Amino acid sequence: MWDFSTDPEFQAKLDWIATFVREECEPLDLLFPGHGDPYDVHNAQSRAIIAPLQEQVKAQGLWACHLGPELGGPGYGQMKLALMNEILGRSYWAPTVFGTAAPDTGNAEILAMFGTEEQKARYLQPLMDGTIVSTFSMTEPQAGADPKEFVCRAYRDGDEWVIDGQKWFSSNARYASFLIVMAVTDPDAPPHSRMSMLIVPTETAGVKFIRNVGLMEEPLGEGIHGYMHYDKVRVPLDAMLGGPGEGFKVAQARLGGGRVHHAMRTVGKCQRMIDMMLERAVSRRAQGRLLADHQFVQGDIADSIIELEQFRLLVMKTAWVIDTQPHGAARTLIAMCKVQMAEVYHKIARRAVHLHGSLGVTNEMPLAYYLMGAESLALADGPTEVHKVQVAKAFLKNAKPHEGLFPSEHIPTRLAAAKQKYAGVLDQ
Ligand SMILES: Cc1cc2nc3c(=O)[nH]c(=O)nc-3n(C[C@H](O)[C@H](O)[C@H](O)COP(=O)(O)OP(=O)(O)OC[C@H]3O[C@@H](n4cnc5c(N)ncnc54)[C@H](O)[C@@H]3O)c2cc1C
Repeated sequence: MWDFSTDPEFQAKLDWIATFVREECEPLDLLFPGHGDPYDVHNAQSRAIIAPLQEQVKAQGLWACHLGPELGGPGYGQMKLALMNEILGRSYWAPTVFGTAAPDTGNAEILAMFGTEEQKARYLQPLMDGTIVSTFSMTEPQAGADPKEFVCRAYRDGDEWVIDGQKWFSSNARYASFLIVMAVTDPDAPPHSRMSMLIVPTETAGVKFIRNVGLMEEPLGEGIHGYMHYDKVRVPLDAMLGGPGEGFKVAQARLGGGRVHHAMRTVGKCQRMIDMMLERAVSRRAQGRLLADHQFVQGDIADSIIELEQFRLLVMKTAWVIDTQPHGAARTLIAMCKVQMAEVYHKIARRAVHLHGSLGVTNEMPLAYYLMGAESLALADGPTEVHKVQVAKAFLKNAKPHEGLFPSEHIPTRLAAAKQKYAGVLDQ
């Protein structure tokens, strides 16, 4: 059965979420608009506002919905999460209010999957409670897309690991209580088992900020993406998350979920931009007509709606496969979502900016921010090209070469075969 319906009971929850996000979360986007604001757990004002909101979310049973019941989430699965996340994606603050903000979601997942009981009690529980935030520290200044180029080392010294090296774009490190650092622990091992994950409390001696890298208009050195120097940072042996050499495996476990959740939220951002385009088109006039009456404008609106619908179906199918098929079955679909998310987001943002004219590029509308967000999403969690290669390889590995000069779909060859097959009838 192909079924695109939402069960009425869950639809009631989605309706509650939509009203709550519009009335309670979107005002926070305006009051606390900094990239890092949702992660700054020490801002007394914003925390005073969100604490009761988070309580309301918990009372509705909608807190930390990416996690199963054994970890305090309702365990709705990815289909329901997709429907939720496309509403939450409309507001920058909403994921924090609902306990589903990246990168903490991914970090919570790997702590749940690979953490010891002690690690879970110390790091996972406060993350789940929303009282702390965390950082995933993997990319290096000389290498991002290819972890095989990483050089940040961790070597054993007695009963400690010593981490020595630099990391780039460690998002939210300035607010984080701990960092999950990927380091080379066995340089002579094959590339995929050279690295391990280590949990490092941020206050550990030797954790140094070279600077906080900012995006776009942010003042130099005041962004939220930490350029880190782990200057002979010492952590105990039990700080390892997963086994020695399992860094790659742990990273992969978190990145798949993170990518598809970004894709779900992107659906919401795109829908919001389309809403803005529609409103503008029926509000503004040019050449004696509404913008809505100009065919170029209609074309941009139609293309945006069609592309979003296609992308949304891809995201929903991916969520369905994750929910219903064995672990790993959705790998290629997730790569497709990763590629298409940035493409569709970029195209719709560009059209929405353009339709709003000069106002569209100002800081008085959220559109220019969305346009840059699309470019960031084309890089974060791996650039588009890497995921395209993954999709192509997944299909090419099953492709069979065809014997002979012409392809199997060559019409004259197939026609000759068809004539031969029905020669008995055709000859009469
Ligand atoms: C907003 C944002 C948040 C981020 N947060 C984090 C974080 O919290 N933690 C973290 O560790 N990292 C984070 N990153 C870093 C992110 O993972 C890297 O930017 C990404 O992996 C790409 O690495 P790079 O920037 O070094 O680009 P490079 O590796 O230098 O790649 C640059 C370009 O080279 C080309 N290219 C690279 N590889 C290939 C290939 N195989 N085939 C074809 N072309 C290729 C592509 O055009 C690519 O865009 C974040 C990035 C952004 C933008």
